[in-house]
Amino acid sequence: MFYLTEQFFSIQGEGKYAGVPSYFLRTGGCNLNCPGFGASYEVNGEVRYGCDTYFAVDSAYAKSWIKVDESKTLIDKLQNEFTHIGYKPHVVITGGEPLMYHSDKVFYAVIEWLVSEGIEVTFETNGTIEIDFEKYPAYSSCIFALSLKLANSGEPEEKRIIPQALRSIRDHAKESFLKFTIDAELVKTSAEDEIASIRQILPELPVYCMPVGESRNTIWKNDKAVFEFCMRHNFRYSDRLHIRVFDTTQGV
Ligand code: SF4
Repeated sequence: MFYLTEQFFSIQGEGKYAGVPSYFLRTGGCNLNCPGFGASYEVNGEVRYGCDTYFAVDSAYAKSWIKVDESKTLIDKLQNEFTHIGYKPHVVITGGEPLMYHSDKVFYAVIEWLVSEGIEVTFETNGTIEIDFEKYPAYSSCIFALSLKLANSGEPEEKRIIPQALRSIRDHAKESFLKFTIDAELVKTSAEDEIASIRQILPELPVYCMPVGESRNTIWKNDKAVFEFCMRHNFRYSDRLHIRVFDTTQGV
């Protein structure tokens, strides 16, 4: 059994596959919290801080999440959706942290089906969960966008950087790349050193950097600094197209 918070057809807005029409499955729950990302929201009068997908992370929202306790129901729905779309789009499984469910029977059956249909599957993951690729071989056919968290996430390093999980994904997955969300302040302080230290674990992977910002009103505060940072270090700049186009609207 696993939780979905939303599913929708859109265009990938970030990372290597930005611009690719993609069907999104967003799972509920995360093993991190990332209060440093500065999105604030209110639960029962209490102000909390988290990332821009706090609605898929904080269990205070769990009542609105959809419980998936049978793979066939979701697979049937996906088949209908793809018929309606007219082709089988790239499927992006995001969160929260989708790999929290990687060994769940229902979740894995959905992944096996997607892979068996020849559908390109990308996991957007914080890279902290180690996968047993021998036991769950379908993951070897997937792409992993390793969206590692830096100090600006507000999470301690030992929680957000798990070298054995990262090496295992790099060694077994069809493709993986690094994606960092950074702000102007981090560019001035520790971004260069933090990314260099992660690249000691994964020196071969391409690096994408994108600006912190959960809305049009905030993303512009960081984009220029991140853009120039990428130029200095030969990293790839990733914008966040969905925020530019749809601002804070969810499910697009
Ligand atoms: S790891 Fe990702 S989804 Fe989880 S709290 Fe941090 S930014 Fe949000």
